[in-house]
Amino acid sequence: MEAIEIFAHNPGPMTGAGNHTYLIPGRRTVLIDAGTGDPRHLDAVDRELSARGRRLDAVLVTHAHGDHASGAGALAARWPEAAFFKYPSPARDGKYPAPWQPLADGDRVRAGDGLLTVVHTPGHAPDHVAFWDEAAATLFCGDLAVLGSTVVILWSHGGSVTQYLASLERVLALAPQRMLPAHGPVIEDPRALLLAYRAHRQAREDQVLDALARGCGTIPEMVAVIYPDLQEALRPMAGESVHAHLVKLLDEGRVAQDGERFAPVRDPLPRSLSGEAR
Ligand SMILES: [Zn+2]
Repeated sequence: MEAIEIFAHNPGPMTGAGNHTYLIPGRRTVLIDAGTGDPRHLDAVDRELSARGRRLDAVLVTHAHGDHASGAGALAARWPEAAFFKYPSPARDGKYPAPWQPLADGDRVRAGDGLLTVVHTPGHAPDHVAFWDEAAATLFCGDLAVLGSTVVILWSHGGSVTQYLASLERVLALAPQRMLPAHGPVIEDPRALLLAYRAHRQAREDQVLDALARGCGTIPEMVAVIYPDLQEALRPMAGESVHAHLVKLLDEGRVAQDGERFAPVRDPLPRSLSGEAR
């Protein structure tokens, strides 16, 4: 299906050059991601619609972060007939009022003259979905991947390394030929990027375990060792990432927590010393 990239006009420290949204024209004209409501974005959507004699029928949002969802209200005001869809996020959806209808994993959504399949891909955010155009082997991947960068997993915003790794595996299994992201250039070799992300998370986890083994017990101590040259302003963000990795290790029983301190859990007893080997 045809996808027209439309810039959301929201450059900033968290969005880089700003977000891409994608207009899919056809019998049911759909916009993927809502941007932030910048009038230049709305006007650009309007121009593309007018050029094709279409109206906006639906808006599909990848997740409830402001740069993807906060423009929904402005779009709803300009195109009152449009329907709005996202995977429910009870904690955050109220922040971005629009007549949201729920998406579920595996839903098939009409878009343009074809179909998109909803792929729930939590990790960056609990409600993150990607949209799979099977006919073109193209994935609208939201914030699952950003070429030239890694994806931020903010523990305090519901980010989960365990879920993110599972989402990477899920998308690897789809074997997309192309991914259209919300940030950065089109991803022409998704497999290479997804494998690099997997390796990056493993390397980061190894660094966290190494810092723990060297006696760093608190998140600020670990950040100081893992990111020695990081500027002060970015340290809280790095702490969020370390925390997200610690939660995975806690879930796996490989790390224990006591208040603000973390410690590695010793390897289980070798079999020769355990009851099983009597
Ligand atoms: Zn995001």
